[in-house]
Amino acid sequence: MKKLRKCPVCGEYTLKLVHCAPTVSAYPPKYSPEDKYGEYRRRAKEEL
Ligand SMILES: [Zn+2]
Repeated sequence: MKKLRKCPVCGEYTLKLVHCAPTVSAYPPKYSPEDKYGEYRRRAKEEL
């Protein structure tokens, strides 16, 4: 099973290594306190 990746530019989920720019893993390697802030950022973005 291929790992889902995410484009940091347009936010699209993709299996490609490059979309608008090199993609990043959609899954964090492990939970860290920083993810909490990422969650807040995502929520803030959704509310805009
Ligand atoms: Zn893209």
